[in-house]
Amino acid sequence: MLNKANLELGMSPSMIRRLFEYSKKRKEEIGENNVFDFSIGNPAFKTPDKVTNELIDLIKNTDPVVLHSYSSSSGIDSVKKVINNNLYKKYQINVDEKCLYLTCGAAASLTISLHALINEGDEIIIIAPYFPEYKIFIENAHGKVVILDSEIPSFLPNLVNLEKLINEKTKGIIINSPVNPTGVLYKDETLKQIADILNKKQKEYHNNIYLLSDEPYRELIYDGLSYPHPASYYDNTIICYSYSKSLSLPGERIGYIALNDKIENKQELFYAICGSGRALGFVCAPVLFQRLIERVDTNLVDINLYQDNRDYLYHELINIGYEVVKPEGAFYIFIKALEDDSYNFIKKALKYELIMVPSDSFGVKGYARIAYCVKKDLIEKSIESFKKLYLEYKEKRNE
Ligand code: PLP
Repeated sequence: MLNKANLELGMSPSMIRRLFEYSKKRKEEIGENNVFDFSIGNPAFKTPDKVTNELIDLIKNTDPVVLHSYSSSSGIDSVKKVINNNLYKKYQINVDEKCLYLTCGAAASLTISLHALINEGDEIIIIAPYFPEYKIFIENAHGKVVILDSEIPSFLPNLVNLEKLINEKTKGIIINSPVNPTGVLYKDETLKQIADILNKKQKEYHNNIYLLSDEPYRELIYDGLSYPHPASYYDNTIICYSYSKSLSLPGERIGYIALNDKIENKQELFYAICGSGRALGFVCAPVLFQRLIERVDTNLVDINLYQDNRDYLYHELINIGYEVVKPEGAFYIFIKALEDDSYNFIKKALKYELIMVPSDSFGVKGYARIAYCVKKDLIEKSIESFKKLYLEYKEKRNE
């Protein structure tokens, strides 16, 4: 008898993955440029030249034995030092480089952290709309998922309800700003209020409540906005970072866990993270890419390309008549479906070769997510299809 939960998981890929596979098949049938695949957050913009050049230099000029050797389980010390220094320079937050753990991307950062924190039955709060894998990561660590709703139309967390949801079993909350799937950025005020609530509840229950800050999009913010870092507001913050989007390296699987210096039981928590990484087999993140990060930690992709896509798509959708949440970051737009059932809506969109993800996958009803991390000409070409889809609904309403 195989593991039932994992068998079921493997046999039912996520809606995002299913749509991604559908789009691959459709592209083979009618051509790459005729399918408007907005399903997955796979950046279409290349990694910066500096990153490519440093990678080539590393391969050419490092002793291959050293280049491909194991590192310490938690990563290479000199890489940690660079990350640590840059975190301070960018956000004025202190993390202890001895408590940094290099990982295979944000998924691993989250999984390792959750396994380090959770005892069976502990609760982790996630905010709907949420990244669908959170539920799987938490349940796999034997935790209980508790869902906090967002206020509409701001899509900011409902803080009155946050206070009500926290109890003696609450171990943490996952925050992902800017948010996948809405692109909403949490500002100063929201983070302060969240911190106040968590601090109050920690005192009330004499427990640590950890804020897991899932940050794959923290550099992808627009309009000259700066990123308010959760660790500046709340001491018990665990940073779960990934270079997948910021350096356009999603297939290379590299990221890290960093512990805010002010975490009370930081050393103990780091041991639990090391133990969890070991138990899950997530030790020694890809060494070639660790060494690359040492050289290019802050060499970001060209954010202007994403902002340009955001501006164009947002304005076109609004002009057609769609109701859209204006994203301030990440590379997703959340549009209101033109009927209550977002599955039906995305099914109708498929007729026009538009591939979007229904919002039910993210824990809310009545919306669809568009991943606009594609080439701009594909977005331009897709506008006709968005118009046709809108007209189809309009005509039906007028019948
Ligand atoms: N968290 C969020 C919110 C994401 O959108 C993603 C990927 O799209 C991840 C985590 C996982 O990122 P990684 O590719 O670094 O594992």
